[in-house]
Amino acid sequence: MQMKAALMYGPNDIRVEMTEKPACPEDGLILKIMAVGLCGSDIRNLTSDSRKGKYPFIYGHEIVGCVDETGPLQTKYHKGQRLFLFPGTYCMECDACITGHSENCENEHVAKLAGTGGFAQYIAVGGEKIHYGGIYEIPEDVSYEAASLGEPLTSVFACLENIKVGYPDTLVIIGAGPIGDFMAQIARIRGAQRIIMIDINQKRLEMAKQFGVDEIINSQETDPIEAVKKLTGGKGADKVISATPVNATQAQSIHMVRKGGLVVFFGGVPKGSLTELDCNLIHYNNIWIKGHFGASYDQSKRAFQLAIAKNFPSDKFITHILPLDQINEGIQLTRTGEAIKVVLHPWD
Ligand SMILES: [Zn+2]
Ligand SMILES: [Zn+2]
Repeated sequence: MQMKAALMYGPNDIRVEMTEKPACPEDGLILKIMAVGLCGSDIRNLTSDSRKGKYPFIYGHEIVGCVDETGPLQTKYHKGQRLFLFPGTYCMECDACITGHSENCENEHVAKLAGTGGFAQYIAVGGEKIHYGGIYEIPEDVSYEAASLGEPLTSVFACLENIKVGYPDTLVIIGAGPIGDFMAQIARIRGAQRIIMIDINQKRLEMAKQFGVDEIINSQETDPIEAVKKLTGGKGADKVISATPVNATQAQSIHMVRKGGLVVFFGGVPKGSLTELDCNLIHYNNIWIKGHFGASYDQSKRAFQLAIAKNFPSDKFITHILPLDQINEGIQLTRTGEAIKVVLHPWD
């Protein structure tokens, strides 16, 4: 059997064509993919030599769908069930997992059980993934598109919870992409007093306002460090999150935070690149610097629940729903800042 998929043949070479449909694992299931989000990391992978020559490859990890087939040894799920596949899988037995930080799971085999292959009509889910978990049922009255936001929301949800964003924080977010917008929305829900958004794209900054951003700074036109200082009476913000793939914003962020404040490096920067930091400033100003990646199972579940909550404005985040055939257009729309979140439909 054949299925439609978006295959990556090399950097910027993505072709939607027919390919072999995966076989149903004896102990697993076949999920018919009903919607898949286009993530910033997908775009980074699709436009760089992310597989080091090993092509073709199918990306896509914000996967939702319904069970189409089940293997004879699989008893947990049944045909027709609507599921969200969290791409993280954790063992729940190693030291990191049992201390409540499954995002740092040390069991590499388990961590690689799920994660990619969503830009297609079907995906096989193996028995081990089902056993270790991270698969959540989507209620009947929730759209597939809204449920797909569960994945991109997860890491943001975990980050803001870990650094305890709340009242009366002044929070600076650098990067008004979909992740920055999710950050603003969740920071608002958590009670941040003031949210300042920085980006180089005016269109994105204007769109960010609808998610609870109080002040926007276009760093192409204004010195963002000066601007943040001015807005905070010369003190700097309580917390600053660098949510871009750029080393320069990491370097800037420590100049925007107050003495004793917290800086988070959320966005991944080009592989192997180094960021030059004013370490004396970090030292004398008692600045905390924290990295963030992923989320624990517990946080992923609660982030998913937030994504599917009635009052969560998923419609405002999903600006474009496109057929999978238009994946290249989706990448362009996201890159230019025209789209916030693009969700692809493999069956349109
Ligand atoms: Zn994602
Ligand atoms: Zn573990």
